[in-house]
Amino acid sequence: MCRGYEKVLQDILQPMKCHVCGSDMTEEYSDMPFKLSQHKVVIFKDLPVLQCSGCGEFLLADPVMVQVESMLERSMPETELDVMRYAA
Ligand SMILES: [Zn+2]
Repeated sequence: MCRGYEKVLQDILQPMKCHVCGSDMTEEYSDMPFKLSQHKVVIFKDLPVLQCSGCGEFLLADPVMVQVESMLERSMPETELDVMRYAA
């Protein structure tokens, strides 16, 4: 872990680039399934994701990931398929 200060600043100011093909990542709202275990899937509706305009690769911003994780913890363990609406 030795990211320089300039690199950090660049990340803040520049649009996010795809780590696969280098195209710009744009913010989209997407429904996305999370497989938590063999028999449990949670689908998030209207999740803000960063999607690559080139190859379709996507990623979640850190604050979104944190929110998703805390919402997943609220899902009932016995529910095999849960659908949640993302709310920031
Ligand atoms: Zn890409």
